[in-house]
Amino acid sequence: MLELETAVAQVRAAMPAPVAERIPLPESAGRILAEAILSPLDLPPFDNSAMDGYAVRASDVRGATAEAPIRLRLRARIVAGKSFSGKLATGECARLFTGAPMPRGADAVVMQEDTALAGEEVLIRDEVQPCENVRFQGEDVRRGAILIESGEELSPGKISLLAATGVGDVMAGRRPSVGVLATGSELREAGQPLAPGQIYESNRAMLAPLVTQAGGVAKVYPLIPDSLVATRAALQSAFRECDLIITSGGVSVGEMDFVKAAFESLGGELQFWRVAIRPGKPFVFGRLGEKFLFGLPGNPVSAFVTFLLLVRPALRCWQGARVTTLPISAGVLGEAIANSSDRRHFLRARMDGAGNVSSAGKQASHLLASLAAADGLLDVPAQTVLAAGTKVNVLRCF
Ligand code: AMP
Ligand code: MG
Repeated sequence: MLELETAVAQVRAAMPAPVAERIPLPESAGRILAEAILSPLDLPPFDNSAMDGYAVRASDVRGATAEAPIRLRLRARIVAGKSFSGKLATGECARLFTGAPMPRGADAVVMQEDTALAGEEVLIRDEVQPCENVRFQGEDVRRGAILIESGEELSPGKISLLAATGVGDVMAGRRPSVGVLATGSELREAGQPLAPGQIYESNRAMLAPLVTQAGGVAKVYPLIPDSLVATRAALQSAFRECDLIITSGGVSVGEMDFVKAAFESLGGELQFWRVAIRPGKPFVFGRLGEKFLFGLPGNPVSAFVTFLLLVRPALRCWQGARVTTLPISAGVLGEAIANSSDRRHFLRARMDGAGNVSSAGKQASHLLASLAAADGLLDVPAQTVLAAGTKVNVLRCF
């Protein structure tokens, strides 16, 4: 049985190099950048005003107060989007608005609230220091500097930075198409009546959005009854259409578990099929040429956990992401948590806004209420009791 880290390393190493495609920047949220982007210009591109007010020479208004204002001649009016080609002389000021370029000769801006108009003159009622209320060319980003590194995920903040430098499209890792399949003769679709012994299928509805969140394009396939022929046919058509396939169920050791045999009969090679975690021990990773099978256990919680720990890193790698692990939040246990089993347990946990961590409820791998209530997963080593007050890291996955 493989340690989780070994299994993840094998999965990552097996992924092909990412394929880059050019996409419009406004559609790039969540995508993985496939190139480093250098800034084509300084940001801000020119010195400009941080306020509505008057551009002045700070030395002209030294000592100005409301009681003893200093008078300056109004030389120009500069709105955002326009520029002024002249140069302010001593004793002159220019009206300007937030974002308007600083005129030459001026070195500070007096905000409007500290001024009054008096005909052709402006009364300055407060002094300013040189540079005050001025935004400087290049203070944010220098031309030629790296804006975003290759392998980074594009967030709205990163997109805003790129947009501000005039970038209109970017090279991003292609998104993998991911087939989502479920096996089990007991499974029914929503809306169908349940005969005795049958249950509603729930894994595809959970896995498809997990795929989407990981950057993949999910394609959901019809339910597969437990037979070698049906499983083989379903895998075959999904492999034709998708880059990666995720199945749930049918990977255990029972005589009704056909995923491994069906996959091998198509020429697939099993890379490993057991990982030392709970929930989720039976987990199949296989390769068919440049395509891959992730055979998840059928128990919904096991499918959920193995997806996040083993499939998500693969999908992220496939797109060229630098970070493939789940985000982590540090917290403190509000209660003791025990793992008496001899396998590492990824326990469904709740975390409140103050960082207090507790169990999300009963933990057996078929129980969904605690999955629905969870904020993340807590990695509890085998045969360990973590006392209340222990500092822990919660893997965020919701
Ligand atoms: P299996 O891994 O096929 O042995 O399934 C383990 C358990 O998970 C059984 O109780 C199945 O009924 C249940 N199960 C398997 N697949 C699904 C599914 N797609 N949705 C809901 N429950 C499932
Ligand atoms: Mg089954």
